[in-house]
Amino acid sequence: MMRLRRYLRDSGRVLAFVFVASVIWLLFDMAALRLSLNEVNSQLLKERVIKEKEIFKQQFGATQHMKRGFKHPVQRVDWAVTQARKGTGTSGVKLAQVYRHEGKEQDKKWNFIKKQGDDVPKRDDGAALYNFTPKQGVPGKKKKVNFDLNVAVVNITHKNKLAYKGEPVKVAQSLLHRKDSKANKAVKNQLQEEEAHLVKTTAEQPANTDKEKQDVKDREQVLVTVTSTLHAEKEPVKPSVSLPVGGHAKDNSTAVRKPGVHKVLSLDMTARPRDANAVGQFGQAALAGWKEDAEVRKRWDEGYFNVYLSEKIPLDRAIPDTRPDMCAQNLVHDGLPSTSVIFCFVDEVWSTLLRSVHSVLNRSPPHLLKEIILVDDFSTKDYLKKQLDDYMAQFPKVRIIRLKERQGLIRARLAGAAVAKGEVLTFLDSHVECNVGWLEPLLERIYLDRKKVPCPVIEVISDKDMSYMMVDNFQRGIFKWPLVFGWSAVPPADIKKNNMTISDPIRCPVMAGGLFSIDKKYFFELGTYDPGLDVWGGENMEISFKIWMCGGEIEIIPCSRVGHIFRGQNPYKFPKDRQKTVERNLARVAEVWLDEYKDLFYGHGYHHLQDKKVIDIGNLTEQIELRKNLKCKSFKWYLENVYPDMVAPLVKAEGLVFNRGLRKCLALHNGSLSFETCDLSKQAQHFNYTWMRHIRQQNLCVAPRGSSGFALLSCDNTKPELRWFHKSSNSALVEHLIAEFVSHHMCLEAESRSDTLRLNPCEPSNTFQKWEFTHYLA
Ligand code: UDP
Ligand code: MN
Repeated sequence: MMRLRRYLRDSGRVLAFVFVASVIWLLFDMAALRLSLNEVNSQLLKERVIKEKEIFKQQFGATQHMKRGFKHPVQRVDWAVTQARKGTGTSGVKLAQVYRHEGKEQDKKWNFIKKQGDDVPKRDDGAALYNFTPKQGVPGKKKKVNFDLNVAVVNITHKNKLAYKGEPVKVAQSLLHRKDSKANKAVKNQLQEEEAHLVKTTAEQPANTDKEKQDVKDREQVLVTVTSTLHAEKEPVKPSVSLPVGGHAKDNSTAVRKPGVHKVLSLDMTARPRDANAVGQFGQAALAGWKEDAEVRKRWDEGYFNVYLSEKIPLDRAIPDTRPDMCAQNLVHDGLPSTSVIFCFVDEVWSTLLRSVHSVLNRSPPHLLKEIILVDDFSTKDYLKKQLDDYMAQFPKVRIIRLKERQGLIRARLAGAAVAKGEVLTFLDSHVECNVGWLEPLLERIYLDRKKVPCPVIEVISDKDMSYMMVDNFQRGIFKWPLVFGWSAVPPADIKKNNMTISDPIRCPVMAGGLFSIDKKYFFELGTYDPGLDVWGGENMEISFKIWMCGGEIEIIPCSRVGHIFRGQNPYKFPKDRQKTVERNLARVAEVWLDEYKDLFYGHGYHHLQDKKVIDIGNLTEQIELRKNLKCKSFKWYLENVYPDMVAPLVKAEGLVFNRGLRKCLALHNGSLSFETCDLSKQAQHFNYTWMRHIRQQNLCVAPRGSSGFALLSCDNTKPELRWFHKSSNSALVEHLIAEFVSHHMCLEAESRSDTLRLNPCEPSNTFQKWEFTHYLA
């Protein structure tokens, strides 16, 4: 018995011990759980903040990396594609092969014709000039060559060069003469004008003995001859697209009027290149052997593209005519305004700069090209000094302006514009290749309406292999928040509604920036660019908003195509921090042009720009004044009329603020907050959750105050302490309102007993910390 009692007493002790131990264990466990919960909380919050930063980085990265755009929808120019696009059947043969093949084929033809002993390359029926483009001969198709009278592709061999020399007008007249029965008085007048023009152009050329210079001169002469002849031939041609001619053109064109029209000139001095087998010829990919790899790498950073290959490609290489078929048939006016082409550059690679200039010289009608202005934005490379001067001295139309200090592309362009003599300014980047027939379709739009700002389709020259790539049809420039430029297809409904064909001008909400033409007077009326923009970035947004909101229009012209090397990085230095420069430029644009929508700009990762201590965006008085004087429309108008598919809600969320735990809504009465039964009809219960992450009613913002309280403060965008995170990630705190600038992440919580608010450590499952607005707009 005693034993049993002792045993029980002993085991009772053990039991008691076990009991006490488990209680202690439990207590420890609970504490640990609490700790880990907190950890989870802050970890989640950390993750979210990191994620937000990532999103911002990605968005900004889009500006940083692609710069003028999201991924550009490219197609490698492929014969099959070109043919399919032009709707004339298909062939699996690469364009390059076709070119090679046909090049030889056509050489034969050329020789044959030359053997006829005529001065001018012409058809056996005497009608003149060939279009040696690859469309005329698909292997296996052997379509009869369609000799297009308006396409002048002239190969100047020494023999026919001599034949032309000194007699272009005579030649043209003799051609006209053969068609005399058709020629009317207007045609003859036209020819005489061209003659006068030719005499003038020729007189402008300084006498020189250099063989190359002579060659250029002769080319121009031939082109003019061709132009005049073609003008003489053009009258019977019917417009393939409806085109307001002569008096139908709008009065606000600055161009001197001439009544006639002609088929767009497809002048291309490179279509029969000297060396058909040269690297990169016809826009083909240039390939470097593995042995050259080191060399390619070494030179890459000079331009952030394959500089090594670029130097191997002829400066006047041929590229494929990527225009939609109908473009070559379009009519344009005879009296188009002349243009100054402005290239500004800083430390541009020699070969790409020269190829850009040659592409303009070789593929622009001389009478429309007033001059080419090269603005050297204080380059540091030696070859861009005397060597460039010497090289360009052979081209009388090329002028070089040198800036005395680095201005950035915006002010460099303005320096070019200030001295330009043409009626139209055409801005181009310094690493482009203008394609055949690129210029007239641009000038035509300005001729029809001086407030139109036409941009060519920007095609892609590969940064890796320098191949010329065609881009998708119906692409237009747009922006996404925070003012990131990108490409997007025209909505199919718009194409249908407007019966658009692939060659029709495309309304373009934002231009890419690098390449466009603008009436010079109009450019100055608009107040040019904001000269307060530095180096690079945002200027395309600025000029686009300005043009649209102040009465102009931006268009992409599918019949005008220019290749551009899109690079991964800017190869030049930014005098100040690159990111800060771009941010500052964009903030200037937002402040002047975005009205109430500027919150969307700042709200997409640029909150910090509102703090004047962080960034000084400079004085905007003149820009704001300009907008007023020009009586420009609102940004709201722009969104509704120019870019209606853009989603731009002015706040992130709105309506009642429902607390899940309390099942009541927040209300504001006489400056104090309380909870009430939800009622949509009560204005006191309506709040906005803004882009500045404010919980806001009128001018009052809910703000954390002290360690656990809150206050109603007057809203101020520059104050980070008024901001709350809400719905900004998928974490366990997605429904919470997390004070952004309170240490130890604190959440807004409804007090169940007192129907008021508190700030407590965030708990994922606490329903009193979960909130819901009636409408989420973003
Ligand atoms: N550029 C300039 N000064 C600058 C920055 C750029 O003259 O401070 C020139 C540059 O050489 C180029 C044009 O401006 O011809 C556009 O710049 P970039 O090609 O870098 O812009 P992206 O095409 O990459 O947007
Ligand atoms: Mn560029």
